[in-house]
Amino acid sequence: MNPFQYEQAQELNSGAERVLRTPEATFLAGGTNLLDLMKLGVEKPAVLVDVRKLPLAQVEELPDGGLRLGALARNSDVAFHPLVKERYPLLSQALLAGASAQLRNMATVGGNVMQRTRCSYFRDTSTRCNKREPGTGCSALEGINRGHAVLGVSEACIATHPSDMAVALAALGATVRVKGEKGERSIPFTDFHLLPGTTPQRETQLEHGELILSVDVPALPAAKQSLYIKVRDRASYAFALASVAAALEVKNGRIEQARLALGGVGTKPWRVPAAEAKLVGQAPSPEVFQAAAAAALEGAQPREHNGFKVELARRLVVRALTVLGGRS
Ligand code: SF4
Repeated sequence: MNPFQYEQAQELNSGAERVLRTPEATFLAGGTNLLDLMKLGVEKPAVLVDVRKLPLAQVEELPDGGLRLGALARNSDVAFHPLVKERYPLLSQALLAGASAQLRNMATVGGNVMQRTRCSYFRDTSTRCNKREPGTGCSALEGINRGHAVLGVSEACIATHPSDMAVALAALGATVRVKGEKGERSIPFTDFHLLPGTTPQRETQLEHGELILSVDVPALPAAKQSLYIKVRDRASYAFALASVAAALEVKNGRIEQARLALGGVGTKPWRVPAAEAKLVGQAPSPEVFQAAAAAALEGAQPREHNGFKVELARRLVVRALTVLGGRS
């Protein structure tokens, strides 16, 4: 691990300013991803500003019936929060599908949103990787790409976004509240992560020195009928090969509202409005669910080893919708 300076932020503004005026400085929260990458020599911050003592760990109710998830709220605390379980079961399920109990006790909401891909080439500094070292090439394109993305890919990078929680937040239409040099702003969750394009090293809209304050989840009655399904190589402590976060509200035999997002197949958490549009106004049926699944995977670009993900994700969408449609 490269030498680095450690500082503890005592309050928000001074911590953010310290990062802002030091180009090689970064924030440290739970550390479950950043410290791993530092040990591997992938991340080399000169200064780590520890923000864990800042008062950002609350889960609070918003006036509109939504929830504010503090950036430093632990994944396990959010997953087991009674209001999260009651109003957003897909979010609780997504969090519990991620990592291990020990990691969930350390990992934070803000850190989960910011976690980086588990592409094995990204983590191996002896290989070419445009995300780690821009302009060097992508070893995954012609390499072992079984776990890689099929949606939102580019010729520069095909890495998947690894978070389960982020898939649920995309489906829920959350916003990310951040604070930086120019004050506070809120970023729609589906815009927060960037497609790789020709600059895969840029992964989010965050500017240097901007700190995530919270992720705000809007009131969404449809989310009471929701679920998160994840398929992976082993039953726990593995990343998704494909996953789906879905919510469905059926009234008088018609789908009134639908939310659908995919994980494990996209270069960012993959909300699919085109698939939602195939559902709204329809009576739940296998044909309607198949049509939504086909729309969800439209434009998929598989490589040599990951073509199976297209059909796997389609089937997961149908399964999730069938379970939810049958409950209504
Ligand atoms: Fe790097 Fe992206 Fe290629 Fe993986 S897929 S090697 S992260 S450029």
